[in-house]
Amino acid sequence: MEAGEDDEDNAVRVTKKLFQEASPEILDEVCGVCSTLFEAATDPEIYQCSACKSFFHINCLNDAILDEKRCPTCKRPINL
Ligand SMILES: [Zn+2]
Ligand SMILES: [Zn+2]
Repeated sequence: MEAGEDDEDNAVRVTKKLFQEASPEILDEVCGVCSTLFEAATDPEIYQCSACKSFFHINCLNDAILDEKRCPTCKRPINL
C-alpha cells in the first residue's frame, strides 16, 4: 500500500437527506457522532455517509470534519 495515494479512490460522499424523505427508516437511527436519535422538529436535514451509511446531524458532522475531512465513523476521506 502506498500511503496517501489511495485517498482519492476511497473518498466517500456525504449526502443530505430531508427527515421526511428518510423517515421512517431514520427513526431507528442515531447520529454517528453524538449517538442521539434524530427528531423531525430539530433535524429537518440529515447527512449520510455513502460508504458506511451512518447518519449525522449537520452540526455534529461540521464539528467532526472541521479539521480533518474524514467521516467520523468509517474514517474515509470525504469528497465534498
Ligand atoms: Zn449528532
Ligand atoms: Zn462513513
